[in-house]
Amino acid sequence: MKNQKTQKIRRCYKKSVWPSLALFVLFGCSCVGMVLTFVIGFQGFLVDSKISKIQENARNLGRMLDSYTNNGQRTIFEAVTIIERFLDEESDICITDENDQVLQYFGKTAPDFERAQNITIFDPYHIIPDLHLPGGERKLLLSFRELVGRSIDALKKSSYQDNDWMEEPLFHTYYWVNVPVKVEGYHLYYRDSLTILQKNVFFMNAVILIELLLLGIPALLLLLNVLSSIAMQKRMVLMLHQDPVTGGNNWNYFLEQSKRILCQFRNTNHTYAVVNLHMIRFQDYCACNGIKEGDALLKKIDGFLKANMDRNETYARFARADFGLLLRCESVEQSKKRLKKLLVELTGIKKDAMMSFSAGIYVLRPAANRKERRRRQIDIEQVYQFASAARGAMRGKKGEYIKVFDQQILQEQMWKHKVEETMEAALLGGEFQLYLQPKYHPVTKKIVGAEALVRWISPEDGMIPPNRFIPVFEENGFITKLDDYMISQVAKLRSEWKIQGRKMVPVSVNVSRVNFVKEDLAEHICHLVDGYGAEHSGIELELTESAFYGNKELLKQILKKLKMYGFNISMDDFGAGYSSLNSLKDLPIDTLKLDMDFFRGDDSLERGEIVVKETIRLAKALHMSIVAEGIEKKEQVEFLAEQGCDMIQGYYFAKPMPVSEFNQLAERDC
Ligand code: C2E
Ligand code: CA
Ligand code: CA
Repeated sequence: MKNQKTQKIRRCYKKSVWPSLALFVLFGCSCVGMVLTFVIGFQGFLVDSKISKIQENARNLGRMLDSYTNNGQRTIFEAVTIIERFLDEESDICITDENDQVLQYFGKTAPDFERAQNITIFDPYHIIPDLHLPGGERKLLLSFRELVGRSIDALKKSSYQDNDWMEEPLFHTYYWVNVPVKVEGYHLYYRDSLTILQKNVFFMNAVILIELLLLGIPALLLLLNVLSSIAMQKRMVLMLHQDPVTGGNNWNYFLEQSKRILCQFRNTNHTYAVVNLHMIRFQDYCACNGIKEGDALLKKIDGFLKANMDRNETYARFARADFGLLLRCESVEQSKKRLKKLLVELTGIKKDAMMSFSAGIYVLRPAANRKERRRRQIDIEQVYQFASAARGAMRGKKGEYIKVFDQQILQEQMWKHKVEETMEAALLGGEFQLYLQPKYHPVTKKIVGAEALVRWISPEDGMIPPNRFIPVFEENGFITKLDDYMISQVAKLRSEWKIQGRKMVPVSVNVSRVNFVKEDLAEHICHLVDGYGAEHSGIELELTESAFYGNKELLKQILKKLKMYGFNISMDDFGAGYSSLNSLKDLPIDTLKLDMDFFRGDDSLERGEIVVKETIRLAKALHMSIVAEGIEKKEQVEFLAEQGCDMIQGYYFAKPMPVSEFNQLAERDC
C-alpha cells in the first residue's frame, strides 16, 4: 500500500514538474524569439521607413522637374540647377544618358573624379569638361555605377559632430534612387542620406528592456516555482523514506528497495534472506528506561544495521522494535551463521543494557529455470510476514533465537488464514459452543463452580480446541466478539437454570486482556448480562495475568466498576508469567487461580509444594478464595485439601463438557 503511495506521489510530481519545466523552456524560447524578432523587425522598419521617405522625395522631385521642363521651357539641366539649390546638403542629383553614362552631377558631395580621371571639379556642379555634347552639354567619362562606387561621403558625420550624443548617427549611408521624369534621353538619380541615430536605438533598447522586464519577471517566478517544486519533491521523497523514530529507512523504503534489488538480481543465481529481526521485551526496556531511551536504542540498532549492510542489501524498521532485513547469502546455513553473528554483536551495542534478539528468516532461492524466472512474482510484504511467522513459531521456546520458515510454519499460516476467513460466519452460525468444566470442593468432592470454555464445532474440521484459534483471535481482535458471545451464553444459561429451578453454582468466564482498553467495559458486560436478566453475583470474570500489564489505572477503574456492579473477579493462571504481587495489593481480586504449571513435573516436587502452600496462605491472608487448576492426581487433591484450597478444577474430577452433560452431573454431584 505504502509502496503504491510513494509511486503515486512520485508519478504525480513527475507529472507536475516536467510540464512546468517544459513550459518554462518554451516560455524562455518564445521570449528570446520575441525580442529578436522585435529588434530585427524594428531595425527593418526603421530602415524601410527612411528608404520610402527618400523614394517619396524622388517622386516629388520628378513631378517638380516635369513641371519646370514642361513644353521645352527649360532643359533638364536648367531645371535641376534651379531645384538643387533648395535640396538639403546631403541630397545630390546625377543626370546620365540612356546608357547610364554620367552627364552632370549636382551636389555638394563630389565623387573622386580627380583620382580617377585627373580632372577639375567645378563647384557646385561637378562636370567632366572634355566631352562636349551638342547644345553645350558636357559628358562625364564614367558610368553611373562607377560614380556611385567612388562617391566620397564628404559630409559623412561632419554635420553631427557638435550634436549631443542622442543625435549622433549610429548608422549612416547614402542611398540612390531613380527620379521618374518625362524628359526623354536622360536618366535622373537622386541621392539622399540614410541615417539611424543613437536616439532611435536608445528608445528601441528602452522598449526592449521594459519588454524583457515584463516577460522576464514572470519567467523568473515560473523558474523559481519549478525549482521549489523540485526541492519539495526531494523533501517529500525523503519524508516518505524516513523513519520518524530512527531517522533511518522506513518500511516504505524497504519495500521499494527490496523490489528493486530483487528485480535486478532476478536473472542471477543469488539467494536472498528476508529477515524479521526483533528485540525481545523492548516494552520492558522502555518501561524501565523511558520512551526516550527506547527511541535512542532503536536509533543505535538502526545505525548498527546500516553499518552492517553490504551493497545490494537493505533494511528498515517495520514497527516498534522489529526490523526487516534483506540479506544476500550463499546458503541457508550461511545466512543463519551471519544472523547469529549479527544478533551477538547487537546485544553488545549498549553496554549497560541486557538485551536479546530473535530473528525469523524466509529464504528466497534463485529460480530453477527460465520459465519460473519469468513467472516469479515476489510479494515482499508477504515474504516478511512469513519471516515473522517463523520468528513467532519460536515463542515460548527457550534457547532458540533464529528460525527459518518451513512447511510446518506454512501450514500454521494457512490455518491462521482459514480461521480468519471463517470466524465471522462461524460465530453467526452458532459453531462456537459453550462447554463447562466443573470445579470441585477438595474435601466434600461436590461441584462448587464451573468455568465456561469455548469449543469450535466446525462442520468441516470437527471440534477445534481453543489453543488453535484463541491466539489468532487475540491477534486480530475478534476475541472481543467471542468473549461477548460467551458472557451472553453464560448469562442465558444461568437465567435458564433459574427458570428450571436447578441448583446454581457460580460460573466463571474468560475475558481476554484485549478487552481492557475499553473504558466502558464494565457497563458493556453489565448490559450483556442484564439482557438475560441474570444475577451478577453468580458470574465470575477471569483475567489472565497479562491483562495486568497494560494501562494499570484503566484496569483498576474497570475492575472497581465491575465489583460495584456485583461481579466477582479472578486472576487466572497465577504464577505462570511475571506475577505481579503488587496487583494483588492494588486490585479488587476475589479469586486466585493457581496455574497448572505448579502441578507439572516432579523433580522439584518439594519446592513446588512449598510455593503452593505459601501462595494459598497469602491468598487466604488477603481474603481471596483459591482455585487449583489442571489437577490430575489424587495426591494433588489430598495435598490441596490439606492446605485449605477452596476449589479444584482438573481432569481428576472432570474434563470440560457440553452444558447438557454438566446439567446431568450437577444433578448428581452438587
Ligand atoms: P484457561 O482459561 O486456563 O482454561 C483452562 C484450560 O485448562 C482449559 O483448556 C481446560 O480444558 C484445561 N484443563 C483443565 N483441567 C486440566 C487438566 O487437568 N489437565 C490438562 N492438561 N488441562 C486441563 P482449554 O479449554 O483448551 O482452553 C485453553 C485456553 O483457551 C483457556 O485456558 C483460556 O485461556 C482460553 N479460552 C478458552 N475458552 C475461552 C473463552 O471463551 N474466552 C477466552 N478469552 N479464552 C478462552
Ligand atoms: Ca480461565
Ligand atoms: Ca487457567
